[in-house]
Amino acid sequence: MDVVTVGELEAWVRHFAELVATQRAYLTELDSAIGDADHGINMDRGMQAVLAKLDAASPGTADALFKTVGMTLVSSIGGASGPLYGTFFLRFGTACGPRAELSAHDVVKACRAGIEGLVARGKPELGDKTMFDSLHPALEALDAAVGQGLPPEAAFASAWQAAVRGRDETIPMVARKGRASYLGERSAGHQDPGATSAALLFEAAARVFEA
Ligand code: ADP
Ligand code: MG
Repeated sequence: MDVVTVGELEAWVRHFAELVATQRAYLTELDSAIGDADHGINMDRGMQAVLAKLDAASPGTADALFKTVGMTLVSSIGGASGPLYGTFFLRFGTACGPRAELSAHDVVKACRAGIEGLVARGKPELGDKTMFDSLHPALEALDAAVGQGLPPEAAFASAWQAAVRGRDETIPMVARKGRASYLGERSAGHQDPGATSAALLFEAAARVFEA
């Protein structure tokens, strides 16, 4: 079984920050169509604050790493995405425990715990046009790939593809959660910003582990 190190997990977080920074204007543009035009600004502010924390001190265990990420996102993002991503990372970290190395199965379990936390917080259901529409298929693909014994690079590549499909499927959906739900039927025809950033999270993992 391939081992995932805390250094690789930190590289994942750092690469997510890089992708969010690159896609900041795009995420904000998506949010301008069905929200309040701040998703890219929110995510970039949060992830830049995370980078500053990691630059000051690299956590030696996965629980400390993701606690730092989660707490920083909760405290630095004003919008809905702060507590949602924050809860995801906090629960992810708790599930990892104070360890510097995890199995691929442990990573799947942590992802599941993170997404369950996010669901408990925001109550999204599939088809509500939220980040959950991208996160859920990604987790199922990751779980299936790891269950088949695929190494992390192949498992995360499969999760990324599933996240992208889930993201694209939000386009025709009518939003039932968050600000976009205020638009009702008029939210259809637009890609959900949160599902787009969630696909970046799995893209970051796929790229870090393919190396
Ligand atoms: P805000 O809507 O407060 O401006 P952001 O623009 O940063 O916050 O984030 C918007 C994204 O948050 C949406 O595109 C959607 O994916 C996600 N979102 C909003 N509400 C929920 C919810 N209840 N559950 C899951 N995701 C949600
Ligand atoms: Mg917004």
